Amino acid sequence: MADVIKLLPDHVANQIAAGEVVQRPSSVVKELLENAIDATATEIKLIVKDAGKTLVQVIDNGAGMSATDARLSFERHATSKITSAEDLFQLHTKGFRGEALASIAAIAHVEMNTRKEDDDVGVCIKIEGGKIISQDVNVTPKGTSIAVKNLFFNIPARRNFLKSDHVELRHIIDEFHRVALTHPDIQFELYNNGSEVFSLPATNIRQRIVHVFGSKTNEKLVPVEEDTEVVKLSGFVFKPEFSKKTRGEQFFFVNKRFIKSSYLNHAISSAFEGLLKDQAHPSYFLYLDVKPSTIDINIHPTKTEIKFDDEHTIYAILRSAVKHGLGQFNVAPVLDFDRDPNLDTPYNYQDKKADVPTIEVDANFNPFEEDVKKPSSYSGFSTPSYKKGGAGSWESLYAGLDEEQDQDDFSSIELESEEVTGSLFDEAAEETTSAITFQLQRKYIVTSIKSGMVIIDQSRAHQRVLYEQFLKDITVKEAVSQQLLFPLNLNFSKSEINLLKELRESLESTGFMFSNFEDDSVEISGVPVNVSESEIGGVLDQLLSDFKEEVPETGFSQTDLLAKTLCKTLSVRTGEPLNKVSQEALVNNLFACKEPHISPFHRPTYVTMTADDLDKKFI
Ligand code: ADP
Ligand code: MG
Repeated sequence: MADVIKLLPDHVANQIAAGEVVQRPSSVVKELLENAIDATATEIKLIVKDAGKTLVQVIDNGAGMSATDARLSFERHATSKITSAEDLFQLHTKGFRGEALASIAAIAHVEMNTRKEDDDVGVCIKIEGGKIISQDVNVTPKGTSIAVKNLFFNIPARRNFLKSDHVELRHIIDEFHRVALTHPDIQFELYNNGSEVFSLPATNIRQRIVHVFGSKTNEKLVPVEEDTEVVKLSGFVFKPEFSKKTRGEQFFFVNKRFIKSSYLNHAISSAFEGLLKDQAHPSYFLYLDVKPSTIDINIHPTKTEIKFDDEHTIYAILRSAVKHGLGQFNVAPVLDFDRDPNLDTPYNYQDKKADVPTIEVDANFNPFEEDVKKPSSYSGFSTPSYKKGGAGSWESLYAGLDEEQDQDDFSSIELESEEVTGSLFDEAAEETTSAITFQLQRKYIVTSIKSGMVIIDQSRAHQRVLYEQFLKDITVKEAVSQQLLFPLNLNFSKSEINLLKELRESLESTGFMFSNFEDDSVEISGVPVNVSESEIGGVLDQLLSDFKEEVPETGFSQTDLLAKTLCKTLSVRTGEPLNKVSQEALVNNLFACKEPHISPFHRPTYVTMTADDLDKKFI
C-alpha cells in the first residue's frame, strides 16, 4: 500500500495553528494589547470597527521595532522575550511563544507601522494570509501600530461562526477591561465605529476601577491587603451590600495576568459568609503576586486557568485577608473613608429598617357629625385612616393608588390601630377562608379538578405565566408601563450601558421606559406593571448578566432570552407564602397559557392525581 502521510503545506499548518490562538476578534485584541504592554508603552489606543470583524487596530508608543525585527515578528516562534527554556521560570512578559503575530497574519489582512525611538524613519509592512505583500520605509510616530483587517477572510467557516456585533464587542470590552485593570499606569483608549467607548488616564488601581465601572464605584470599594512569603495580595472587594444577584465584577489577576479560578472564588465567597443576601455574589478585584517559579506558566495563551504550587495556602490567605478587610470596614469605616466616625450608624443598626411612625389621622372624622361607630375591620375598600393626610391635601391625589396596593398586600387588615407587624400576613387566617386552592409547603398549589387534583409548582407555573405574557408584550408591543413618580437613576458600567442601549427597544416593549442614558448611569421613568420599584435593579442586573453569558443571534432568540430572564427574576419563589387571591389567579392564568404543562426552562409545572390514582393508594 502506498504511503499516506504528507507534511501539510506551511500556510495550512499556520491556519490550523491560528485557530488555536485566534478564536474571535477579542483574541486579537488581547494579543495586540499584550504586545504593546510588553513593549513598555505608556499610551495604548484600541480602535475597532464592526466589533472587530472589519478592523482591530492597536497603536502604542512603545519600543517599536527595527525593519528586520518587524519582518521577523511575523514568523512562527519568533520572539524577543525568551531565549532558553529556563527563561520560562522567570517570565515577566505577557507573551513568550512568538505565535500571536504569525497566527493573526495567517488569517487576516495585517498592516504594521513601527519605528524605534532612535531611528529616523520606520517601516510599513503589509501581510495577507501570511504572505508579505509589501515592505516600505515609512515616516511614522515612535512605537507600533498594527491594524488587523477582515479577520478570517480566508476561513469562511470561522467567519460565519462569529456572533452578532454586540456579543463580539462585549468580548472585546471584557479583554480590554482585564488588561486595563492590570495596568493602571498605562493610558488606554477604546474606540468602536468612530466613537469613544473608554478613555482611561494613567492613575492608580482604585481610580482605574472607578473609571472603568463608573463614578459610583468608589464608595463601594473595601481595600484588601496582605503580604506573605507565598503571595503578596492587594486589591478591593465590594462592600457586601453592593453584591449582585448575578456574578458581577469578579477579577483575579496573578502576576498581572487575568485568571479564572473557581477554587479561589470560593475562598472569597466563604470570607463573605453571613454578610451577603440570598444568592448574591461578591464583586472583587484582587491582585496576587507570586514568584513566577511557583506557578505553571506553560499554559496555553488563550487559557485563563493557572496552576499554583501551593493552592491551599493561597486559598487560606485570600480568605483571611478578605475577612480582615471586611472586618476593618465594618468596625471602623473611618479607616477606609474620610468620614467622621460619629456620624456613622453603628454597625448593628445598619441593616435595620427605619421604624415607620404610626401616627393616625382620620380623614373621615367630622366633628359635627353624630358619633358613628367605625367598623373594627375593613378589607381595604375604605380609605385606611392611618394613611396620608386629610382630604384636600396633595397627598390625597395618590390615596387611590395606595389603596389599590393595600388591597393586594394587606387583604386582611384587621384593626386600624393595630401595630403594623407580620401578623398581617398571618397565613392561618387565610387558609380558613376558601377551600378551592391550597398552598402546600409554600411551594405547591393544590387544587381540585373534576378527575381528582392538580399539584402545581408555584414558581415554575408563575414563570410560565410571565414568560408567555412577556413574549406577547414584546412581540405585540402593547405592554402597559407604570410611570414612576420619581425617575430612578441606576449606575452601570459603560459596557452595560451599551448593552442596555441595544436592548432598549425590546425592553421598552415590555413596559420599561428609559428617559436618559449617561455614560455610566441610566434614568428609568417607567417599568412593566408587574415589576415593583425595588425590583428594578435586580431585574436589570440579571438581564445584563444573562445577555453577557448567552449569545442570542436572531431577533427571536433575543426576545426569548429577554422573556426568560424577566420571568426568572420576577416569578414567585419557592418558600413564598401566597394568599388565596394569588393562588387562584396563578391557577387560572397558568391554564390560560399556551403551554401550561411546562416551564420556560422545560420543567414540568404541575402533576395531576386522579381519583383512581388515589383509590389505588388505599387498597
Ligand atoms: P510574543 O509576544 O509571544 O513574543 P508575538 O507574535 O506576539 O510573540 O510577537 C512577536 C515579537 O514581535 C515579540 O516578541 C516582540 O519582539 C515583537 N512585537 C510584537 N508586537 C510589538 C509591539 N507592539 N511593539 C514592539 N515589538 C513588538
Ligand atoms: Mg505577544
